[in-house]
Amino acid sequence: MTPPNSSPENPDTENPDAEYPATEKLYWTQPQARTFTATVTATRGRQIALDRTLFYPEGGGQPCDTGTLVWDGGQSEVTDVQKEGETVWHTLEGRPPNVGSQVTGTLDWARRYRHSQRHTAEHLLAQAFFRVNPAFGIRSVSMRSGECTLDLAGQPGASHVLAAQHLLTDTLREGLTLETLMVPTDELDAYPLRRPPQVSGPVRVVLFRSASGDIWEASACGGTHLAQGVQAAPVVVLKTERIKNELTRVTFMAGEEATERLNTVYGQAQALARGFSVPVERLPERVDRLQAELRSAQEDATGLRRQLAAGLVAGADWRTVPGGRFTLIETTDELLLPVLEAAGARPGSLSVVVAVSGRGGVASMLPEYPAQTLLRGWLAQAGGHGGGRPQLARGQAERPEDFRRAVEGWLDALPLPE
Ligand SMILES: [Zn+2]
Repeated sequence: MTPPNSSPENPDTENPDAEYPATEKLYWTQPQARTFTATVTATRGRQIALDRTLFYPEGGGQPCDTGTLVWDGGQSEVTDVQKEGETVWHTLEGRPPNVGSQVTGTLDWARRYRHSQRHTAEHLLAQAFFRVNPAFGIRSVSMRSGECTLDLAGQPGASHVLAAQHLLTDTLREGLTLETLMVPTDELDAYPLRRPPQVSGPVRVVLFRSASGDIWEASACGGTHLAQGVQAAPVVVLKTERIKNELTRVTFMAGEEATERLNTVYGQAQALARGFSVPVERLPERVDRLQAELRSAQEDATGLRRQLAAGLVAGADWRTVPGGRFTLIETTDELLLPVLEAAGARPGSLSVVVAVSGRGGVASMLPEYPAQTLLRGWLAQAGGHGGGRPQLARGQAERPEDFRRAVEGWLDALPLPE
């Protein structure tokens, strides 16, 4: 398993000790190509290595490409692509071709395009935040689903999100063009990289130039991107949230995925608004009012339950027991607590309240009859559990009928009051 977030940089170092032949990265040199031919250089179970490949291996927060490979006498889906050292391994569904076989690969282009769209948006949005305030440095990214995330330092707030979105929209309107190049370490100073590269040796630098030719965004990156920034539009920030280590997670969507999501959500909002007979724009106001009405109705219901409970307690069948008066009240789950409260407020009383469900409680204003001791004794005969204090105890009987019988048995055993 790969962690959900990883560094936006994709170090690409030389590995002279590689056990397997290096793979030429056609996904870097031919970013617009969809098919290629190559030779199998190694196999390992259901994985094969090729001398060159268009399949982008998972890395830098970007998922791998998938697609198909065809060879003389066979073909297979490519389900996973991983890079180890300088070798790119392709996981196939079936039996792999032999070393030396010629293969033709075809990318799932829709998937690649989606990933490039997310990745392009990620660069541009990160740069927009950086331009709003250089404190908003990027710590990690994820582009594994349509909802991509940037984890930023510096705690950007709502106004910064708005500023970054406006800046990006204005810049995209003017035009941003991709340029990728391999830059020797000692020439890196010529590029305004958002963060220092974490690799030694030549670094792959990804630039987006504005219409005037100025570099607007520059990063060391090994991912795939779109030729024009506007191809990633719209870039939409869905939400921000504070996460651990003082970071702010910015969730965004790009391109057609963003449009589809916004269409879906707007459709849902419209359906809701129709149900409430208001235009979509007035939904928040309508929901606020409904919530206020709900709170008021809940308060009314609480008041009514209290009144009803007081009436039930007052009209209950009270009998005299040594030291005070006793009653057993049957009620509903909703009224259980209010009835217990009302009963518990009557001086010199001992009240048992039970609901049909078996929930029940004891309220005692007589110190010689501790509520929790009585309840525990009756539950011992009826199954269930419960507890509380001398004045108030609550529980749940497994067999409500047995609970009632236990209470009646206890009453019958009491000495007659003097
Ligand atoms: Zn990139």
